[in-house]
Amino acid sequence: MAGSRFAYVRDFELPDPALPDVYLVVRIDGKGFHKFSAAHNFAKPNDAAALELMNCAARQVCSELRGDVVMAFGESDEYSFLLKKDCQLYRRRKTKITTHIVSLFTSSYVFSWPSYFPQTRLLQPPSFDGRLVEYPTAKHIRDYFAWRQADTHVNNLYNTTFWACVLRGGVTEREAHERLRGTVSAQKNEMLFSEFGINYEREEAMFRKGTTLVWTQEEANETTTQPAEDVHDGLVSSPKGSQQNKRKVKMKRRLRTLHVDIIGDAFWLEGTAALPATAEAAPAVSGSCAAAAASDTTLPTSMPSAAPWQDPDRLEGVGCGRWALA
Ligand SMILES: [Mg+2]
Repeated sequence: MAGSRFAYVRDFELPDPALPDVYLVVRIDGKGFHKFSAAHNFAKPNDAAALELMNCAARQVCSELRGDVVMAFGESDEYSFLLKKDCQLYRRRKTKITTHIVSLFTSSYVFSWPSYFPQTRLLQPPSFDGRLVEYPTAKHIRDYFAWRQADTHVNNLYNTTFWACVLRGGVTEREAHERLRGTVSAQKNEMLFSEFGINYEREEAMFRKGTTLVWTQEEANETTTQPAEDVHDGLVSSPKGSQQNKRKVKMKRRLRTLHVDIIGDAFWLEGTAALPATAEAAPAVSGSCAAAAASDTTLPTSMPSAAPWQDPDRLEGVGCGRWALA
């Protein structure tokens, strides 16, 4: 059809490339999720299975776009995906990148729904919108993720207190809003503790800190509870650092799922990044979407019976962020 008299309409399709050599962040957001969560009886203030389903869909995006998506952060009904500076996906065309991520995330969410809600039929098609923002420096990226995690904290503290008032305190939603109007964090913490015996700091880390997904690199002989995504050769310098002392080691990329602080330096700077001593005793994750991220061919089957968000491996992320900005 290239030579037809209609072909001129192609000229209306304008290119929309992202700037070269800048970080790209695609943030997707659930549309009408208040209604969606009510229709499916999501637990208040947090439904762990629903959050874990979001994490599962995001891991699918990270796995599918490995090499381009280096990190992601999710809370509530939103997820942000960080693409590396020299990403060449779709020749950096913004609409193509955004729509592909939104579509893949949404289809993965629907595809994996029965694994996370085996007793609940999906009653409505969930949908997400998306936007792509360009950030020039690593500082912008750190501040971006700090902004999203601070938002997680503010929202979750409010929601935890609000629903404690309603579900345990027996007040109406309107009265709960009134009570919380103008209160600061310390007052909500105090209200939770003195009236409902809730120590906010002991609430699930996934609720308080959201979920961070990040590709890390490790020597393949380390023992971990999450399987390696792929294994490749790498050169590692011996302490002396001379050419002869360089040894070839198997390196593996691993998609970590974390519920840790990403506002402070510890996550971003090179540290010991040691796995917790209790890692071996962590709940099995085989068959879960976490394990599914381990291979190209494994698709999500079911959520593990144990709460995967309590896996000690998810609560230790020192130094992991450095791989995203490398
Ligand atoms: Mg939303």
